[in-house]
Amino acid sequence: MTSITPERSLRERFPRLLPHGERLDVGELERLRSRTRCFAEDHVRPRALEIDRRTGEDPSWFDWDLVRAGGEQGMLGLLIPEPAGGAGGLATQAAIVMEELCAACPGIALIFGAHALGVAPLLLGGPSQWDGVLAELVQSERTAKPLLMACAITEPEAGTDVEDPDLLRRARITSHARRVPGGFRLSGTKRFISNGSVARWITLLMPTDPRHPAETWTCFLLDTRSEGFAVARVEHKMGQRACPAAELTFDEVFVPDERVVSREGDGAAATTIVLACSRPPVGAIATGVARGAYERVLGWLEEDRAAKGLLERQHVQLALASMEEEIHLARQLYMDAATELDHTALGGVTSNPAVRAIAHVPAGVRRRAPMHGWLASDRARDATIALLHRTTSERAVTRSLALSSMAKAHGGDVAMLVTGAALELVGLRAGPVRAELEKLWRDAKLTQIYEGTNQLNRLEVYRGLCRSETISCLPPLHPIRRKTEGGRS
Ligand SMILES: Cc1cc2nc3c(=O)[nH]c(=O)nc-3n(C[C@H](O)[C@H](O)[C@H](O)COP(=O)(O)OP(=O)(O)OC[C@H]3O[C@@H](n4cnc5c(N)ncnc54)[C@H](O)[C@@H]3O)c2cc1C
Repeated sequence: MTSITPERSLRERFPRLLPHGERLDVGELERLRSRTRCFAEDHVRPRALEIDRRTGEDPSWFDWDLVRAGGEQGMLGLLIPEPAGGAGGLATQAAIVMEELCAACPGIALIFGAHALGVAPLLLGGPSQWDGVLAELVQSERTAKPLLMACAITEPEAGTDVEDPDLLRRARITSHARRVPGGFRLSGTKRFISNGSVARWITLLMPTDPRHPAETWTCFLLDTRSEGFAVARVEHKMGQRACPAAELTFDEVFVPDERVVSREGDGAAATTIVLACSRPPVGAIATGVARGAYERVLGWLEEDRAAKGLLERQHVQLALASMEEEIHLARQLYMDAATELDHTALGGVTSNPAVRAIAHVPAGVRRRAPMHGWLASDRARDATIALLHRTTSERAVTRSLALSSMAKAHGGDVAMLVTGAALELVGLRAGPVRAELEKLWRDAKLTQIYEGTNQLNRLEVYRGLCRSETISCLPPLHPIRRKTEGGRS
């Protein structure tokens, strides 16, 4: 294994971080990046090829030791708000962590990324979610049995279509959440769900009326120990194999009313906001993949006798300069998207005085009546949505989504380009580093597919930036609310 290139600070990598100084604690971000790099070098990179080999033979093989090691570093609580015991990170922090992990191994990074995607819809529930599963996830983080999450949106007949509120209207949805007293019965199949076979909790989206999927798309928090839930199969993957992608089946699985995340019918808007938040980190995943390939090929050129003399050749210098350039631009895109989202589009929510006041109430008080009752009430859920409407706008979120989509799509293409170029440079000569580069090339492909294919993401860019359109992406102020026997009204 060749050595890694010298450490570069976040400011060197993202020069525009300086003007953000007042809003961002740059020192804290630097420490986060540095800690993650140490974790990646000590735990992730040394295991990457072996895990890739084992999961290639048996896709259901899973390295829980790595999850435990990541848990000790706070990887599972990164996005969980501080009042729930987490680090309170936002898209910016998630993106910084993802680039560092992916430069070592994108498959292992995806375990933590998919976990974060599972957590994200719960964050939209505001303080009402802090003392439930979010707190449980943090408590498990440093134990022998850390809990993972997954997020299930994709269905066998609907992938791209369920990632966009307009396409959702005509998507071929086959799942259904049927109202019953006290909750819902979930039926159907979800496909390609990262962490789906290892998650303890899953946030998943289904319509409560399949004739009107967009209007009734609803997010549920599912306990994977529930009766009727099954892992039907784990896919044989080309890349990012360390993280299993599973097909999940739901046979009349009961989910109580209190595990409806946010409110019935808010799922399409929630998905849009979650994707706006998760696409900058996916841009960072792609940037990390490209950087990993670049660092490996540079290390090989500098140190391996088989590469002697190559660095003096101008075509090699030009190839390296192009890689550096592409990686740099991909990073600016994802950091722009993440900081815009965290501090402009959604900044008003996180800094809101009412939310801060609730955060100062000790957890013990929040968990008892009368506060617990209020936080779990429909009025509290409505108040969280009203806060979103007061502090941001559909235009701001649409613009943010477009920037996030640009970062994701461009990053994915850069990952393919750079891993391919790195492989071409080493050719057949490189020995062990070739195996790492081949793996990164396989890993790169997925960054063009998940979180919406690059085509879909570019359509978001067209809509949100080229046409300055505004999509309906905030949950309605007045929700669907039907009375059911024994259920919440
Ligand atoms: C390994 C892996 C892990 C994944 N993890 C998760 C996960 O954790 N959770 C989850 O919910 N999903 C996950 N996915 C699903 C992923 O998000 C979908 O694969 C993706 O959204 C594409 O959907 P699809 O595969 O059905 O392709 P399709 O939607 O069938 O698309 C096929 C092709 O048609 C193009 N296309 C489709 N519609 C349009 C359109 N309207 N305009 C232009 N082009 C279009 C697409 O760009 C693509 O090139 C994962 C997928 C993979 C492969």
